[in-house]
Amino acid sequence: MKQRCDKLIGVLAPLGVDGAIITSKTNIRYFSGFTSDEAVLVINKDRRVLLTDFRYIIQAKEQSPDFEIVETSRAIAVDEISSVLEEMGVKKCAFEDGYLTVRAFNSYQALPVELVPHTPEIDRVRLVKNEYEIECLKKAQSIADAAFKELLSFIREGQTEKEVANELDHLLRKHGADENSFDTIVGSGPNGALPHATPGQRKLQKGDLVVIDFGCKYNGYCSDMTRTVAIGEPCGELKKIYGIVREAQQAALDALKPNMSAKELDGVARSIISKAGYGECFGHSLGHGFGLDIHEAPYASSRSADTLIPGCTITVEPGIYIEGLGGVRIEDDCVLTEDGFINLAHSPKDMIVI
Ligand code: ZN
Ligand code: ZN
Repeated sequence: MKQRCDKLIGVLAPLGVDGAIITSKTNIRYFSGFTSDEAVLVINKDRRVLLTDFRYIIQAKEQSPDFEIVETSRAIAVDEISSVLEEMGVKKCAFEDGYLTVRAFNSYQALPVELVPHTPEIDRVRLVKNEYEIECLKKAQSIADAAFKELLSFIREGQTEKEVANELDHLLRKHGADENSFDTIVGSGPNGALPHATPGQRKLQKGDLVVIDFGCKYNGYCSDMTRTVAIGEPCGELKKIYGIVREAQQAALDALKPNMSAKELDGVARSIISKAGYGECFGHSLGHGFGLDIHEAPYASSRSADTLIPGCTITVEPGIYIEGLGGVRIEDDCVLTEDGFINLAHSPKDMIVI
């Protein structure tokens, strides 16, 4: 954790900043190991301080041995953060403008420092994953693969989307997940055309394609995979779009290599879908990084300026969505290495007909 904090200060120093206040749950965990967001971290080049209240003192001592623990009143008050900042001699302090409430921001105006918003720079310290993080990501995805395998023998015609989602969530926990990394998406038949469908009371019918997008956390690290399965033989157009998405996803994986531009990767899948005449039906980006957050840098879109450097993560998830008919998405989650990448997802991708 000390190394991570040193890296943060190293990134911020050239920006003229000599300290940071960390308030988001994800970054509190990343920089200190502390797993609750009932804390504030204050970090500079010499010291790392974690402020929390009585309820969390033992937990903080156990989880954050690299930090000095300061006990505060129940709601961490600005004067308590002020004294720590003054003691540490921080003058110009980075903060996470992307996560702070307006109320907290207003109260932070009383802090004896110049506050500088630096959410992207702070978040990007997490870009390159170390060996431990990659092991956790692998484990999270292997739990998801095991749960999906078992789900396939459960799904059948007549079940509601909600029943399928509930079973999958249960299976993820059974196989060792801490929790879901996001709300499970099950979109059947025409609902599959909603990329982020909420599972509802619609019953699975013969001829449906069912888009299932799900993930879980292991030691806080997220997996993210989508598979689209068929309930009986689907119609010709659904079969056709499945084939196109499958081809586009494979082409992107074949092209994926370290240090390539994320925009280029997006283009590989997008051009196949566009050439097939479905460009308008692929309205989201190809992929995103994942780690302690389900969506984090880098981002693979047609506007991305990101480079897929070794150690970063990226999902590859092209889709085609046709209003009134249905949708297809296939998503794997990958980690870039020095000489290639590891595809963490091992569930089958050829169309499964149930
Ligand atoms: Zn997903
Ligand atoms: Zn995703």
